Amino acid sequence: MSLTRQEIETRLAERCGLPPESVAAALDELAQLGQREACRGFLIPGFGRLVVSTGPERVARHPLTGKEMRLPGKRKIEFEVDATTEEAILFGSDEESSDAQSSPPAPAKILPEIRLIADTGDSAAGGHPRPNHKMGGQPDWIQGAEESPVCCGREMTFFGQLDSTPECPIADGGMLCVFLCPRCWRAKCMTQLS
Ligand SMILES: [Zn+2]
Repeated sequence: MSLTRQEIETRLAERCGLPPESVAAALDELAQLGQREACRGFLIPGFGRLVVSTGPERVARHPLTGKEMRLPGKRKIEFEVDATTEEAILFGSDEESSDAQSSPPAPAKILPEIRLIADTGDSAAGGHPRPNHKMGGQPDWIQGAEESPVCCGREMTFFGQLDSTPECPIADGGMLCVFLCPRCWRAKCMTQLS
């Protein structure tokens, strides 16, 4: 069961040390402000934005004359949830937010390692050290161990790395490392300079 308005008012009043009637008045005022301002887009702090849009013009026939009529597009209201709120609601519900901020990020999940080694018969690899391409496993940090990037409160999963080849040097012989967040699927690419 979702919280009732009464329960929300009581909680806010307790948490903010305000009289319940002030909280009720602020909520009323926010609602009225939103209704007045929605046509210009209305930000509800911490949640997202109300957006009013107008659909395409419609064509209909007059029921008596059969003549074509152009009708204005339907107006509709949408709610765009902001990204931080979406993540918090979908993925962060079990933890108290204060704990999540102070504790170190959870360690990354490690994918099975697949080495992508060029065929030695391939002219591209002939006479040169084999490029160190792979998927999964742990990144081969060239510059010494670096911290893995963090997203959604945990270390991002190492997805793979692409090494330089003589034909295709990356950052003067460096390497590209790609990380993925298994929760929101954000990707991050880091360049390792040799
Ligand atoms: Zn994420």
